[in-house]
Amino acid sequence: MFDLDRYRVTPGAAFDLSTHAPDDLSGFDGDKDAGKRLVEEQSVRLEELQELLYAEGKHKVLLVLQAMDTAGKDSTIRHVFRSVDPIGVRVTSFKKPTDEELAHDYLWRVHRHTPGTGEISIFNRSHYEDVLVVRVHGLVPEARWRRRYEHIRAFEQLLVDEGTTLIKCFLHISPEAQAERLQARLDDETKRWKFRKGDLAERARWPEYTAAYEEALSATSTPDAPWYVIPSDRKWYRNLVVGQVLIQALESLDMEYPSPEEDLEGVVIR
Ligand code: ADP
Repeated sequence: MFDLDRYRVTPGAAFDLSTHAPDDLSGFDGDKDAGKRLVEEQSVRLEELQELLYAEGKHKVLLVLQAMDTAGKDSTIRHVFRSVDPIGVRVTSFKKPTDEELAHDYLWRVHRHTPGTGEISIFNRSHYEDVLVVRVHGLVPEARWRRRYEHIRAFEQLLVDEGTTLIKCFLHISPEAQAERLQARLDDETKRWKFRKGDLAERARWPEYTAAYEEALSATSTPDAPWYVIPSDRKWYRNLVVGQVLIQALESLDMEYPSPEEDLEGVVIR
């Protein structure tokens, strides 16, 4: 199996995104067919593991997805979880905060969406926006967002200490791949609705977002809540790596089906 460590952000170390190639395919030597076969196997395995998680009812799993526009958060969720029973999975998409949310601390809206036992929660964007878009747009003073790295580490440690397995994936694309995807949205009538002129203003801030991601990932990748930088220029490879990170995390939980009630031997239903 391919080595996921290469994609993990080392806790405590300075982190330079330019050392992570968004078009890396090294786990599979670029063998797309082999990769696609593995995606099928992963799908079956993930379905089994999710059922086990639900049946055992002991662990909770939180997958955090962050990315620049068009990197494919929605599509990753759709593909990686396509065989998983929707009953055991909850997706929360974090948008621009409402007035009520803004009137509270930034973790207020987040905590209630964390998973319960037996559940997988997926955050499509997350509390990280509060050190990313908030920083890039100067929505709060620097001294205030800067303190948030520490809050986030403590918040995530709380979740882990109380039994949550936390997996954080940054879907990493190149500005060239983003340009292609934005253009494709404009050119395809069925996708044009996804395009907003504001996307271009955000694109122009690529260097600021890169700096914000670099600092955020380096400050909050911890042994218990690591960040993975997922090469995302190729969609199939992105899905493969996210699937693999998830499977590895679930397998490490050593889950078992609960014991059945006693004296079921010989029970026949008539
Ligand atoms: P997506 O791009 O995730 O598919 P949208 O197009 O609705 O979904 O974008 C959601 C928007 O909400 C993004 O522009 C994002 O930056 C913004 N957003 C999310 N969280 C916050 C936050 N805490 N503060 C400000 N803006 C936020």
